[in-house]
Amino acid sequence: MRIGICPGSFDPVTNGHVDIFERASKLVDKLIVAVLTNPNKHNLFTQEERVELIKASVAHIPNVEVDDGASGLLIDYAKSKNSFMIIRGLRALSDFEYEFQRALFSKYLDDDIETVFIMTNNKYSFVSSTGIRELARFQGRLDGLVPETVKKALEAKFADRSE
Ligand code: ADP
Repeated sequence: MRIGICPGSFDPVTNGHVDIFERASKLVDKLIVAVLTNPNKHNLFTQEERVELIKASVAHIPNVEVDDGASGLLIDYAKSKNSFMIIRGLRALSDFEYEFQRALFSKYLDDDIETVFIMTNNKYSFVSSTGIRELARFQGRLDGLVPETVKKALEAKFADRSE
């Protein structure tokens, strides 16, 4: 069975991510969306919330599993899941530099695991979780950029705050 992993912090998941999951799911038998906790990032949504939001957003893709167990080195996680493929989305040139370095680190750690890139859908090329959080904070229009459940969760999150 060919197992691929889409890792990310998904804070929150966007339609750009979902588009990558849909396309990546066609390349493998099983796709694991791995929700990572990046110690350098302060997250808006907790790990559990991020997992639940992704689950609600990928219910229409049959071979996708959402996993929150991703901590430590991604390469060790991939091996523990018998996965040979790390799939990442690529937007503008600015993504390239970071992704290039990450892919080479992975290759250095394990030559058998390949990092594969899927080019962003033109419709979502400008969509980032950071941009979405900012838009939501100031009540910007989120329609079409995030799944409906995520939109509701963002509205609830910011309605709770007095910012
Ligand atoms: P990380 O926290 O690991 O940088 P993110 O959670 O922001 O990752 O995103 C996970 C993956 O999805 C990354 O490979 C990122 O490049 C990709 N991605 C994010 N937004 C988009 C988008 N709009 N189109 C395509 N790929 C995207």
